[in-house]
Amino acid sequence: MSKRDYYDILGVSKSADEKEIKKAYRKIALKYHPDKNPDDKEAEEKFKEAAEAYEVLSDADKRARYDQFGHQGVAGAAGGGGGFGGMNMDDIFDQFGDIFGSAFGGGSRFGGRSGGGQRVARGSDLRIKIKLNLKEIANGVRKKIKVNKLVNAEGVTYNTCKTCNGQGRVVRVMQTPLGSMQTQSTCQTCRGTGKIIGNRPAGVDAQGLKRQEELVEINIPAGVEDGMQLKVGGKGNAGPFDGVPGDLLVVIEEEKNDLLQRDGENLHYEAYVSFIDAALGNSIEVPLVEGRAKIKVEPGTQSGKMLRLKGKGLPSVHGYGTGDLFVHINVWTPKKLTSEEKEILENLRSSENFKPKPGRKEQGFFSKMKDFFAG
Ligand SMILES: [Zn+2]
Repeated sequence: MSKRDYYDILGVSKSADEKEIKKAYRKIALKYHPDKNPDDKEAEEKFKEAAEAYEVLSDADKRARYDQFGHQGVAGAAGGGGGFGGMNMDDIFDQFGDIFGSAFGGGSRFGGRSGGGQRVARGSDLRIKIKLNLKEIANGVRKKIKVNKLVNAEGVTYNTCKTCNGQGRVVRVMQTPLGSMQTQSTCQTCRGTGKIIGNRPAGVDAQGLKRQEELVEINIPAGVEDGMQLKVGGKGNAGPFDGVPGDLLVVIEEEKNDLLQRDGENLHYEAYVSFIDAALGNSIEVPLVEGRAKIKVEPGTQSGKMLRLKGKGLPSVHGYGTGDLFVHINVWTPKKLTSEEKEILENLRSSENFKPKPGRKEQGFFSKMKDFFAG
């Protein structure tokens, strides 16, 4: 299923500020609120869709990633964990606290909503960097990384929270001029988990967690780029009070290659040939991501000529084929000459063939590109 653009969903422009986004979301959320549209599946979907859009666009970091990479940027490119699959109605109503706070009485949930109940605490996300060389990027790689993280400690027991009787929420009845109004809020004693820690072995924190190094296996797809972030679902810090773990965010760092320069899926190599080779033709070796290739330099090759090795670039991370390797020919001029060499060249100086006569083909980068793509 293709996802709609978050800005379209909220009906705001890409340059909308925080206030506009909030206002737009508020309007849509009120219109499609499940309490107003009971048993209306379509309204519920619209409501959830808007909540998801707001969740991303109201967060500067997520919004920046969305602007740059689209849905993929906020859903994680690998490792499963389908982004917002985890956003349930409870999360959405929690989000309402900030937006509808004043209208609905201080961060309370909607009165009369069924469900409620305790909420499972989620562990925090962990972020690590992984350095990859071109060969690893070209093939994809499986890495085992030691991660220092919070894990569930053994020997910990939990008791039911007495404040909320394990419900995670406390109900208050307020008297208002319109009659009594019931509001629910998260239990402060157990922070909504319904549990408090019982037995706690040495070295375990108040949430039942301890810090430990763990070996995590990470599958990195071929074609990733510097700065890309992959999400490995459930491999972050363990959740407090026996909750669910956060995600592990893996930031890709690309090792610089001395010979091959990367431009998206394409690679570029600067080759230097003597003007003898350029004039007479020769074959030269060029480095590939793995190994080397021999290519032919035709007699009469000009400096600046580009040669393309099709499919010798990097694979697309999205699986759309493979880039090319472009070899840029530079004609090398000797910096020092012996007197014999000078003599030979002096004899050639007046030769008509050595006088530059650039045609249209040799003039300018764009005509070179055109020539190149023509054949
Ligand atoms: Zn409680």
